[in-house]
Amino acid sequence: MSKYIFVTGGVVSSLGKGITAASIGRLLIERGLNVNVQKLDPYINVDPGTMNPAQHGEVFVTEDGIETDLDIGHYERFLDKNFDHNCNYTTGKIYSNIIAKERSGEYLGATIQVVPHVTSEIKQVMRDAGGKDVDVVIIEVGGTVGDMEGMAYLEAIRQFERELKPGNYCHVHCTLVPYLDAAGEVKTKPTQHSVKELTSIGLNPDIIVCRTNRDVELTPNNRKKIAMFCNLDSGEYVVHCPDCETIYEVPLVINKQGMDRLICKILNLETPEPNLTKWQEMVDLYLSQLPVINIAIVGKYTEVPDSYISVTEAIKHASLNNKYRAKISIISSEDIEMMGAKEILKNFDAVVVPGGFGSRGIEGKILTAQYCRENKVPYLGLCLGMQIAVIEFARNVANITDAHSTEFNESTNNPVIHIMDSQKDVVEKGATMRLGKYNCHLSDNSMSRRLYGMPDISERHRHRYEFNNEYRNRLESLGLVIAGENLENNLVEVIEIADHPYFIATQYHPEFKSRPNRPHPLFVGLIRQAIANK
Ligand code: GLN
Repeated sequence: MSKYIFVTGGVVSSLGKGITAASIGRLLIERGLNVNVQKLDPYINVDPGTMNPAQHGEVFVTEDGIETDLDIGHYERFLDKNFDHNCNYTTGKIYSNIIAKERSGEYLGATIQVVPHVTSEIKQVMRDAGGKDVDVVIIEVGGTVGDMEGMAYLEAIRQFERELKPGNYCHVHCTLVPYLDAAGEVKTKPTQHSVKELTSIGLNPDIIVCRTNRDVELTPNNRKKIAMFCNLDSGEYVVHCPDCETIYEVPLVINKQGMDRLICKILNLETPEPNLTKWQEMVDLYLSQLPVINIAIVGKYTEVPDSYISVTEAIKHASLNNKYRAKISIISSEDIEMMGAKEILKNFDAVVVPGGFGSRGIEGKILTAQYCRENKVPYLGLCLGMQIAVIEFARNVANITDAHSTEFNESTNNPVIHIMDSQKDVVEKGATMRLGKYNCHLSDNSMSRRLYGMPDISERHRHRYEFNNEYRNRLESLGLVIAGENLENNLVEVIEIADHPYFIATQYHPEFKSRPNRPHPLFVGLIRQAIANK
């Protein structure tokens, strides 16, 4: 039977519960355990696919095409493992399942209630995340303890813990421990209140992870006090996690305090000590003095850095692999519209145009692609970043001045990017795009083929619009290289520009498959060229 680790958060959101959960996962994998993860998000959307990234951060896509919370990206990167549709549930999804069952008569006669029906559904998805070959399931509950939306999840965990029996579950609670300058000390009261909230629901934390700002100390006395007020065995069960230089340091920080050993003790798991040499080497490289490379991400969801988290991580992985540190600036394409591409981009070594939806800022992205093409600046376009590169090439090289995507101009005479036939009559917005893993065949002489080192690959998608094959011959004859195709559906997947040191754009999202210890070849190639130009 699988054992369970529940990770909850208190005091404030954005504590980095996901990073903590992912770090625990990494340590348990290094102890030889088979780990699965599940994120439970209490909001009512069925999935984050319809949410603005400025509100909720990036939408991460799994191999099997599920639009998920960005924490799944952290899990995949930390655990170096792909997760599937079972890894993320929202209240919307849970209720959809229940309502579908109700309509089909499965509960015939019953009045459907939060307890027991919603909690039973939640327990079932938690059980489904376990299995014969899963040693440990890490379940992270989104939001903060005390949120109205999260109540059913915590109640389900309370019930589930009773079924699991002690020794088979461990509850990790993450809280904020502020340092007050005026008082000259850290304050444990918010943590005490948060745990009081938890215990009033019938949950008791086994380990408390205290998040603090960098350079804040948590003394043995602080730990003792937290343990006493929060019903822990001793101060040993209080783990201090200050802000780190890199998120990849967190597994090392919590391992030094014995957290993975304690978890295994609580779960009665006999495991060897983890071998963290490789991970430590990677972190040492992150922390070492490295030359800097300046990378611009020209996007539109610039309010929160999390909107492009997989892209920024992929750039960091690839830079490190080239022994450079990336200084990443997220630039609004609307600024480029106002001030011109050269003005804003002249000091950058490479440019990435990531995915996006809707017409705001599109012309600025097109100007960005033009600037990079004409000035031989290394360019990597991701999804929308490919579509606008095709529009730019059609307009400025092939002289098709009104070339556009039908996403932005439905009645354009030259739809070089258009909606797929299968998408034409789709009116629903949720989960109706081309999603998840598709094959791609790379052409023999392409740069992409050389970078990947193999002719056949598969990558993840999330889009409605596609390259319009009617323009293919005309654009190819002028130097647009069709470097990758999905042969099953006759769809263009990768374009390159001939006579350019590095101009690659993909209809898919390579950033989702980059890992800290396994950077993505297209990002590695981009950074390598940027360094060569320096
Ligand atoms: N808006 C474009 C489409 O739907 C691109 C999507 C994206 O960049 N993820 O095709």
